[in-house]
Amino acid sequence: MNFFVQRSGLGDLYDKVAAGQRVSEADALRLFESKDLNALGAIADLAREKKVGNRASFILNRYLNYSNYCILSCQFCSFSRKKRDADGFELTIPQMVEKAREALKLGITELHIVGGLHPSLPFSHYVDMLKSLSALNDGVAGRAEPCPPGGAHDPRHPTARLHLKCFTAIEILHLAWLAKKTVEQTLIELKNAGLESLTGGGAEIFQPAVRSAIAKGKESAEEYLDVHRVWHRLGGRSTCTMLYGHVEKPADRVDHLRQLRALQDETRGFVGFVALPYQPENNEIPVKAPPTGFDSLRTLAASRIYLDNFDHITAYWVGLGMKLAQIALSYGADDLHGTILEEHIFHMAGATSPQLQTESDMIKAIREAGRTPVQRNTFYEPIKVLD
Ligand code: SF4
Repeated sequence: MNFFVQRSGLGDLYDKVAAGQRVSEADALRLFESKDLNALGAIADLAREKKVGNRASFILNRYLNYSNYCILSCQFCSFSRKKRDADGFELTIPQMVEKAREALKLGITELHIVGGLHPSLPFSHYVDMLKSLSALNDGVAGRAEPCPPGGAHDPRHPTARLHLKCFTAIEILHLAWLAKKTVEQTLIELKNAGLESLTGGGAEIFQPAVRSAIAKGKESAEEYLDVHRVWHRLGGRSTCTMLYGHVEKPADRVDHLRQLRALQDETRGFVGFVALPYQPENNEIPVKAPPTGFDSLRTLAASRIYLDNFDHITAYWVGLGMKLAQIALSYGADDLHGTILEEHIFHMAGATSPQLQTESDMIKAIREAGRTPVQRNTFYEPIKVLD
């Protein structure tokens, strides 16, 4: 135990992590209220190292937003538009396929596809979208077959194909409503059309009063968790998120992580956790500044320490900036997310990071932080270890 941990009064938590014991919600609250970042970093770093050793990963991915038209108006959202708005957009399926083709040529391994809850596109459009994108993988070795309902997941190691990671939980609920089917039936149909993973977006903060203050009308915490539960039971995998730094309190963050950890105990279906720093521009939340660097590092460290059943904690460079994301590798994070190529959601909310990172930028940042860079796939499995 180092000097900082001894001085912080968090030594008992260091001992728990060293002994492989779980920390409680009361412990997590102490972490979120601590002002001793060095101590938090030391404990989180121990937890990280026990999970993943010296490796830190990144993925070659491309974001693809099919449309920003949305029937909801979440207060924190700067991305959504109504049909009357001049800056709304909508990609056709051929336009999406063209962007996907270009991504394949660049060695991209994952398409991350989300959009708003479109007011008029039918369910068949989403099925056709998945089928058209999935067809780009035809003939490529390692093409994933749909997992049977309830069957064991079979992670592959794709290097020359695009993994289709699509839709947030609220989009799935919207598609189920369009299809007039249950969530399970909808997910099976989408899976048969080519869906391979769910994204983790839309979790925001689960605490009902805070959720209502920032995302009124969005699905409840129970609905978010249930979409992921059903997907995991079908053999699928997903990530999960927490939007922090707006009107929530530390106890709300703990409550949020508690519910994610409980579902992970139940299904083991989350491959990673991504903490998303709130971006304050162009929306209705009365918060003037994004979370500080201190709060972001503390949030990542506390998440790593509390979420003991998650292997991977991602530092989301789009919200943090690459410099802080790199430092986060010493505060519990073991992943820098991806190259992305074209990000809209955070940048429309005022993010000042660039639209993309190159592979060499990521490798350099990881090496400089003293870690071994690993290019990973969607399931955080290594594709290439860059010793
Ligand atoms: S957060 Fe998603 S559901 Fe809410 S308004 Fe924005 S696009 Fe629509």
